[in-house]
Amino acid sequence: MRELPVVVVGAGPVGLAAAAELVERGVEPLVLERAERAGAAVVQWHHVRLFSRWAELVDPAARRLLDGQGWRHPDEDAYPTGREWAEHYLVPLAEALGRRVRFGTEVIGVARRGRDRVVDAGRDSEPLTVHLRTSSGAEERVTARAVIDASGTWGNPNPLGGNGLPAAGEQAVAEQVTYQVPDLADAAVRDRYAGRHVVVVGSGHSALTALVAFDELAAQQPGTEITWLLRRGEVGDTFGGGQADQLPARGALGQRAEAAVEAGRIAVVTGFRTEQVDRDARHRLALISDAGERVEAVDEVVVLTGFRPDMSWLSEVRLGLDATLQAPVALAPLIDPNVHSCGTVYPHGARELSHPEPGVFLAGMKSYGRAPTFLAMTGYEQVRSIAAALAGDHESAERVELVLPETGVCGGAGVFDASAEEQADGCCGASGEPAATASASSAH
Ligand SMILES: Cc1cc2nc3c(=O)[nH]c(=O)nc-3n(C[C@H](O)[C@H](O)[C@H](O)COP(=O)(O)OP(=O)(O)OC[C@H]3O[C@@H](n4cnc5c(N)ncnc54)[C@H](O)[C@@H]3O)c2cc1C
Repeated sequence: MRELPVVVVGAGPVGLAAAAELVERGVEPLVLERAERAGAAVVQWHHVRLFSRWAELVDPAARRLLDGQGWRHPDEDAYPTGREWAEHYLVPLAEALGRRVRFGTEVIGVARRGRDRVVDAGRDSEPLTVHLRTSSGAEERVTARAVIDASGTWGNPNPLGGNGLPAAGEQAVAEQVTYQVPDLADAAVRDRYAGRHVVVVGSGHSALTALVAFDELAAQQPGTEITWLLRRGEVGDTFGGGQADQLPARGALGQRAEAAVEAGRIAVVTGFRTEQVDRDARHRLALISDAGERVEAVDEVVVLTGFRPDMSWLSEVRLGLDATLQAPVALAPLIDPNVHSCGTVYPHGARELSHPEPGVFLAGMKSYGRAPTFLAMTGYEQVRSIAAALAGDHESAERVELVLPETGVCGGAGVFDASAEEQADGCCGASGEPAATASASSAH
């Protein structure tokens, strides 16, 4: 089986890092990417400036591979946009990996060879079969010794509806709803929002990015009105750790949004879980909550409530997923926003990412399932550890080689409507460790 490739699904930052880590260890990867280019999801949010510096956005093994090819380093301390991350790093990295990356190839299924998920016999000895569909519509099969699914979650945004399902009427008003941070530097996009009443829904970094961008637009375009809807009961520490955040740009983003709210330029509605959207004859929307509250005369809705993983093509392999987060069971307690909501993430590796199905791993954004606050650095450490495990270096696979930046928020905002006080113990104890680490470790 060792002569078979490790199939990596997705040529995003984590999939390409996985390939670089495998190559360095002498294990042959085959990266299968649905789109025709590297970083296809990242370029969809090309205009968003990352809050991580270049130094935190380049995988160490990928850097060594690129250095060997005369790569021109970006400035370590600069903050790229999505476009720059893709153009100056992901595209050259895919080029350096050469024929190991196949574009225009969508993975549509993974199974144990000749066995559906029910059959026990041969699961440890038979390879995996990966089903593909190429951009020309042809179907192919690839036999793999292992599969690292780094296909992200970008294609599956959460809906407006407060219960995780679309609100009544949400699909009918689709042309007035977007699920991405709008690119207000694009004249056509700007025109869509200028002088309108815009509602932003969500409490993560994308929502803060959108609020800051709309605040700038409102300063230039009179009549632009911004309402921010939060499902949780109070704003709490949604703005993040400010100067205490070890990623300064992330802290500063929250501070800019907070300043706009405090100055009254953004109206805030908390505890609002949208159940219904109505449209009147003048094409204006009314958002109605499950408690019957209404936010009216809305022109555009920007829904930034996170993403969810697509598990549909993994139905024939045995995954051990947490019932709440759809993340690997040993990882879930480390990242569950119900338990510790500070947004700080904890490094982990092959052990936490293993499933009952031998040789199948979820990595990158998808490994977090429904949990927020994934960082590229986390993904790079995941795939370093997985590559070590696949190369048989179990000592290295077990070792955690990463210290992640703290957000500076302890006992944070949570996912729903508990007050900050009620959640005060949720995240960081005096040691800064998450309350759940002990239980996760004991599950090892
Ligand atoms: C707006 C935004 C800003 C962010 N800012 C930061 C930041 O500042 N710092 C930070 O550390 N992180 C940040 N992140 C989080 C994270 O680092 C990125 O989302 C990152 O792109 C995740 O990488 P990934 O490789 O896991 O997934 P993606 O980048 O989503 O890549 C997945 C790839 O898989 C492909 N694919 C999907 N399905 C299939 C299939 N079935 N078959 C074949 N290919 C498939 C997709 O086309 C895509 O190319 C940000 C995320 C967003 C959305």
